[in-house]
Amino acid sequence: MATPTIDKDAMSNLSFVLNKAGDVTFEERPKPSIPDPNSVLVAVNYTGICGSDVHYWVDGAIGSFVVQAPMVLGHESAGTVVEVGSAVKGLKPGDRVALEPGYPCRRCSFCRGGKYNLCPDIVFAATPPHHGTLTGLWAAPADFCYKLPDTVSLQEGALIEPLAVAVHVVKQAQIQPGQSVVVMGAGPVGILCAAVAKAYGATKVVSVDIVQSKLDFAKSFSSTHSYVPQRISPEENARAIRELADLPAGADAVIDASGAEPSIQASLHVVRTGGTFVQGGMGKSEITFPILAMCTKEVTVRGSFRYGAGDYELAIELVRTGRVDVKKLITGVVGFKQAEEAFQKVKAGEAIKILIAGPNETA
Ligand SMILES: [Zn+2]
Ligand SMILES: [Zn+2]
Repeated sequence: MATPTIDKDAMSNLSFVLNKAGDVTFEERPKPSIPDPNSVLVAVNYTGICGSDVHYWVDGAIGSFVVQAPMVLGHESAGTVVEVGSAVKGLKPGDRVALEPGYPCRRCSFCRGGKYNLCPDIVFAATPPHHGTLTGLWAAPADFCYKLPDTVSLQEGALIEPLAVAVHVVKQAQIQPGQSVVVMGAGPVGILCAAVAKAYGATKVVSVDIVQSKLDFAKSFSSTHSYVPQRISPEENARAIRELADLPAGADAVIDASGAEPSIQASLHVVRTGGTFVQGGMGKSEITFPILAMCTKEVTVRGSFRYGAGDYELAIELVRTGRVDVKKLITGVVGFKQAEEAFQKVKAGEAIKILIAGPNETA
């Protein structure tokens, strides 16, 4: 496909706008300009659809984040730099970049402490009230645009965001070489958590999901074992997982990338004494939790939210070195005008990742 022109005046800023639940339109929005000398303007080439985008489209809200005014969707994007601010070093027009879509305040105690993903004032794309990246042109701080190596395509670049989520989860799990990991959920993030755990040296990686076809993919991608939960108690499912993977003492780490209550319950029974459990999936806000197992096994329980310092860099490095072949996750690529059909496919579970080409892409 043709490299897009870097003449921003000739470019469209057509955007995919969610007005309210179930109601989307295409709108030619005013072109952004560079807001400060350290920012750049990027033409968006490809955007992946995330579960959160689908939630906003279907329900108009995720928890306390409610779409109250029309909002551009999308936050998993890669693009081409078209203009740079006067103070920008290290990026020039024509450079291909993965976009990290959350911009923290840089001043609060979390930002100053190196955990900027916890910044209460972060401006995150396609989280109300902020617009997302399913648009033609995107203005961003230069240090949140990561140059892609020559061997990494722009389509792979759009997968860096979910991969960075997985990198952050696996860092929270503190996986060591030779360890065993169980990952609950084999959606895109679950599959990527399994792959990153393997890259960290885990030798047994068990994927668990209620959909067999997702497990088949997980096994072809990186998991060593897979398990479909049965209609039995969480303890019994946990026992079955330990038998299947020959982990009589339990797994060193368990990652929940499903958000499903029975999976979270089974997680605390499948993790070994002294092991680690990380909650990465988002489901119901309150559940019944096996707190006695957590207490008596001295399980370390951690949350994981988005990504922080070093996560994008590591995600790109995992792709560059071929350790995580994100291309395989791309089910299809559609033109910008097919965005709503692509959302329907993701909602129906017909795709792992569908990419939407930017409005200036001539694919
Ligand atoms: Zn996402
Ligand atoms: Zn902050």
